[in-house]
Amino acid sequence: MENARDVPCPFCGLGCDDLALRADGPAFAVEQGACPRSATGFGRAAPSAQAYIAGNPVELPQAVDQAVTLLRAARLPMVTGLATDVAGSRSALRLAQRAQAAMDHLHGSSGFQGVLAMQSSGGMSTTLSELRNRAQMVLLLGSNGSDVAPRLAERFLDGRGGAFLDGRPRDVILIGPHAPAETDNAGIRWQHIACDTETVPYAIAALRCLLEERALDERAANELPLTELAELAERMRAIDYGAVVWGPSGLGADGDLLVEALQTLVQSLNAEKRWGGLALAGNESATTFEEVCLWSTGYAGRLRYRGDQVLYEPRLIDAKRMLASGESDCMVWIGGLEGDHLPGRPGVPAIVLTSNPEALDWQPDVLIPIGVPGIDHAGTSVRSDHVVSLPLRKLRDSDLPAAADVLDRIIAGLPVPETTSC
Ligand code: SF4
Repeated sequence: MENARDVPCPFCGLGCDDLALRADGPAFAVEQGACPRSATGFGRAAPSAQAYIAGNPVELPQAVDQAVTLLRAARLPMVTGLATDVAGSRSALRLAQRAQAAMDHLHGSSGFQGVLAMQSSGGMSTTLSELRNRAQMVLLLGSNGSDVAPRLAERFLDGRGGAFLDGRPRDVILIGPHAPAETDNAGIRWQHIACDTETVPYAIAALRCLLEERALDERAANELPLTELAELAERMRAIDYGAVVWGPSGLGADGDLLVEALQTLVQSLNAEKRWGGLALAGNESATTFEEVCLWSTGYAGRLRYRGDQVLYEPRLIDAKRMLASGESDCMVWIGGLEGDHLPGRPGVPAIVLTSNPEALDWQPDVLIPIGVPGIDHAGTSVRSDHVVSLPLRKLRDSDLPAAADVLDRIIAGLPVPETTSC
């Protein structure tokens, strides 16, 4: 292992590419561009490549054969996890088609909020680069930024990095229960309009009423932070370019409705000024899988195969629900970039491909250790704003296979399904 510079990081959706790593025994220490997620990801030593069947050590071909046997016996397998790179996602789709399986990313529930809102009411999006260079004000919901993307403030919110801000600080306003994790500096002025998660949709609706000078329900005056919202609306009127940013997993149970409300607010603001919406998605490779799914099938995920048909069922396909109910009768977990997001023991046969096998506290029917894209093998990941593909580098010698390699071996053992289209 050698020290490395300008290293791209695959451990959250921000896609930082400025890391400096120092070889440190079997892992790396992040000497520049460190954050808690990258320090943990690069600091993890490669596990043993030993594969297991029901806890018993086996050679990789045996483990692959057993995976094939389980999949051939299954009625509706569920391919989930999907914390993998572009090549792994492509192979996962081929496996799902060959095994006639359903697919749902491990962050499918929160990640699909944006997709459902987009289907329902459309959306106006911005990118991380536009955010950094142009946004004078940012509304932040469902996250304080650093809890989802640790270097968001440093790399994209600090106004001193904005090409068109003339060194002015950026106003970042958090609405909801998440308080800022950092204090004001010369590049950022934080503000927190505190309310609980259930109140946030009403606060957004009130903000829109205030901006459009529409009457508010009398109860709103008592139940919402109306003085702060009115002051915010006044400031927003003076903004030429702003952004509404949200952390999908912090939006609550009806997140799709809240995203729809945020996108409607953005659309309304665009009548006179320029505003854009941006989800802090992409952790555990969610955006990578979504993009591969989109360009391969036309759908963003939550689909299943019947013959050679792709059935898109975003409200029905939910890996947790289908595995818990037995509707899916076999689980294929595909990791690599899952970190500590490991699957719990399902009540059905389980095939687990993971880069973190030592953290599993149960024995899958088939366990195959795999490498981490961007450390053990090269690959490509897609940034959270969907516009940048990040080439990931191989940084250490490793005998761990890539997810795509293992999946392709399993696919080779499965029969080609009958064609259903006429
Ligand atoms: S913020 Fe995200 S992409 Fe950047 S170094 Fe940390 S984990 Fe990696």
